[in-house]
This record gives sequence, C-alpha cells and structure tokens, in this order.
Amino acid sequence: MAHVITEPCIGTKDTKCVEACPVNCIHPMPGEAGFEADTQLYIDPEACIDCGLCVDECPVQAIFPQDDVPAEWRKYIQINADHFKRS
Ligand code: SF4
Repeated sequence: MAHVITEPCIGTKDTKCVEACPVNCIHPMPGEAGFEADTQLYIDPEACIDCGLCVDECPVQAIFPQDDVPAEWRKYIQINADHFKRS
C-alpha cells in the first residue's frame, strides 16, 4: 500500500508534501530533472511507508491512501507507479 497523488496536483505542484515526507519518496523534487516539465508530483509506491504526513500538507487535497482514492481518480494509482518505472 502507498499514498497516491491525484488530479488536483496538476498545475499546482505545491511542494510542502515533499518537505513533510520522511523517506523522500515524492518526486520530482524542486531542482530535480523533470520538476519544471512534469505537470504533477508522484509518490513512489515502493518507498512510501504510508505515514500519512503528506496528506494534510497538500493545499488542494490531492493525496489519498491508495484504498481511499476516489473512483474517478483511481487511474492515478498507476500513473504514480509508472513515473518511477520510466525514471
Ligand atoms: Fe511520504 Fe508518508 Fe506521504 Fe508516503 S504517506 S508519501 S512516506 S509522507
């Protein structure tokens, strides 16, 4: 299980979640390759420890535990995972 970043992040890319994450599994971080080009941030499902600290940091409520992702945004579970397969 992991947390997942969903549609409200697109065009927002607030980075308070990055600062809150104790295992640095939210990417791209500011200064990393792709930060400017990517439309949203992603959580690495292999590295996330499900602590939930990022959830309340998000100003647009884009982050959910995988099991609680709203039905219309469930495709973001795969979108988050795929980001780490291609990078
Ligand atoms: Fe990082 Fe915890 Fe959020 Fe997972 S749930 S992305 S480990 S802050």
